[in-house]
Amino acid sequence: RAKAAGRNNAQWFEPAMLEESNDKLSLSAALRHAVVAGELSTVYQPLLDLETGRLLGFEALARWRSSDLGPISPERFIPVAEDSGLIRELGGWVLRQACADVAALQREIGRNLRLAVNVSPRQLRGTAWLDEVLAALDESGLEPDQLEVEITEGLLIDDHGDAVELLERIRRHGVKIVVDDFGRGYSSLAYLSRFPIDKIKIDKSFVQQIESVDASAAIVDAIIVMAHALGLTVVAEGVETTEQHRYLTARGCDEVQGYLYSHGLPRHEVAAAVRRLEASADVGVVAG
Ligand code: C2E
Ligand code: MG
Ligand code: MG
Ligand code: MG
Repeated sequence: RAKAAGRNNAQWFEPAMLEESNDKLSLSAALRHAVVAGELSTVYQPLLDLETGRLLGFEALARWRSSDLGPISPERFIPVAEDSGLIRELGGWVLRQACADVAALQREIGRNLRLAVNVSPRQLRGTAWLDEVLAALDESGLEPDQLEVEITEGLLIDDHGDAVELLERIRRHGVKIVVDDFGRGYSSLAYLSRFPIDKIKIDKSFVQQIESVDASAAIVDAIIVMAHALGLTVVAEGVETTEQHRYLTARGCDEVQGYLYSHGLPRHEVAAAVRRLEASADVGVVAG
């Protein structure tokens, strides 16, 4: 009976796998087209200083509205871009666009802001990325220390030296290195701190369980203490409730991001959101 079930399973599974790989193929073809056709855009999610509520800057997040398929989430198209190699082109586009947008925004509001961009492992193969970053900064007029590069812990752990060396080189220019989704990969902070990093971003799965799971609250607490002991800045992502906000404040987390403060915003909505966030900075918490 087990054998029969196994066969049934196999029969059921194979077409599904085929469908998935077809889906990925057509998605990568559509994505290739998207870059050229201008279907990509960026949104900007505010990054706030937790103690003062002051706006520090933005994380740029890629968006894709396909003319054929409608809006497609980054959770779907980023892996496709990574597998197909398109991530280099896509990442380069996001970087240049975001630098230009933030530079323009700074002129509008009259003060400097930080910009965080996500970078995939494949972008750090070879040295082209380094030149691209420096060129994007130069063209926009942003200073290197205004730029934050978000990587995942897996990139550091799996690297054979090249990506880490590239990060070291860009960091020497003043660019900050952030470990995104920290906690998901189970690597220890003590180990990660050997790498050229400035800041860690606590994964939203821990942040969102602060109220419901005692262990998550304890983990968040421990990450903050440990990061500070190692001289790292800590940011919490995915903050959605005032309870989470209060907990993070009490534990001395440095920076926050999340729907409680703001979603990712299209370029034309950012200036108004900045004014709204600045106006409510004294209160600390602002409506999303
Ligand atoms: P990430 O870098 O960890 O970005 C945070 C994700 O959480 C974003 O999803 C953001 O919209 C979402 N988020 C922010 N605040 C909240 C909250 O309070 N609650 C919840 N539930 N979610 C929140 P998004 O935009 O769908 O992006 C997903 C992932 O795709 C990103 O995770 C990042 O890894 C990747 N990604 C997005 N844009 C780029 C890009 O330009 N390049 C690369 N390499 N990856 C990108
Ligand atoms: Mg990120
Ligand atoms: Mg990420
Ligand atoms: Mg994250």
